[in-house]
Amino acid sequence: MAAKKVQPDQKAPALRHILGQERAINYLKTALNAGRLAHAYLFLGPEGVGKATTAKALAAALNCEAPQADGDACGVCPSCVRLAAGTHPDYLEIRPTSKERPPKIVIDQVREFRKLTAYPPAAGGWRVTLIKPAEDMKVEAVNALLKTLEEPPPQHLLVLTARVEDDLFPTIVSRCQKLAFAPLPAALVAQELVRQKGLPQPEAALLAALCGGSLGRALALDPAELIRRRDQVLADLQQISGNGLSAILDWAQRLAKNVDEADNFLLMAQLWYRDLLLLHAGGPAALLAHQDRMAELTSAARRSGPEACFDCFAALGAAQRHLGANLNPELTLDILGLRLQQS
Ligand SMILES: [Zn+2]
Repeated sequence: MAAKKVQPDQKAPALRHILGQERAINYLKTALNAGRLAHAYLFLGPEGVGKATTAKALAAALNCEAPQADGDACGVCPSCVRLAAGTHPDYLEIRPTSKERPPKIVIDQVREFRKLTAYPPAAGGWRVTLIKPAEDMKVEAVNALLKTLEEPPPQHLLVLTARVEDDLFPTIVSRCQKLAFAPLPAALVAQELVRQKGLPQPEAALLAALCGGSLGRALALDPAELIRRRDQVLADLQQISGNGLSAILDWAQRLAKNVDEADNFLLMAQLWYRDLLLLHAGGPAALLAHQDRMAELTSAARRSGPEACFDCFAALGAAQRHLGANLNPELTLDILGLRLQQS
């Protein structure tokens, strides 16, 4: 199938519901109200920041039977309800479906979409098609899509999403209007985790700090597993700091056997020292990732001054680079352990 109907949403799609992307949304609203939308957009930005949701909200606004004064969708008319339910005939998504691993978007999917563009939108409004992620298009699929991009059919809007444009064929990039979507602020992600998943604020803050500005990624993380891993990292830091050389060597040996665990240690320990630096700088507590460990943070900040914290932070970053460059993991972690102990 070239395009599949999408899963039902909990909430009617509307531009006003997109979080943290004011610049992109204002830009689209202005174009929408002036009747000057491009025929193809390339939404660029990290995963899970609202790119696909915005495509659907645009489809809702373009097809809404009773749009709001600012052109946004009403959320309750039959067209909006069908979009929310995933049953609107004129909103399509083309996603990787081929059997290869990882799956790709193949030429047959684009061909089937092109056949459809020979006909006007079924409901008489606009047909909006999301291609996500555009990086996953095979070259034949890209070439087949170029024809549509060069001769856009009336009442059709194409939205492609990608993390960065460098991963795309230049022929695609040059035929789309680019729009940047920013990573979301951690405080906003935490607030949504509390609202959507009912997480306690301290857990939400930790997840938000680890998700790189992606609400989608934060929602997919398992809070209990994350807390377990974080607690292990804090226990490791304690083992390193107070128990002599053999404790460091044992720790390094254990961690070197598991790349995933080593990566997790480096990331979470950096977050710990980042919190300590934030405390030393007198930053607001709301920005701390480890809000559920305030007592330990405060006492660690009393023991280690800002310079020592910065040394530890830098040592963790260096170890990350060395592991990324495939240097000997056990040796890298031995050296890291010694630097953390001496700081
Ligand atoms: Zn509506």
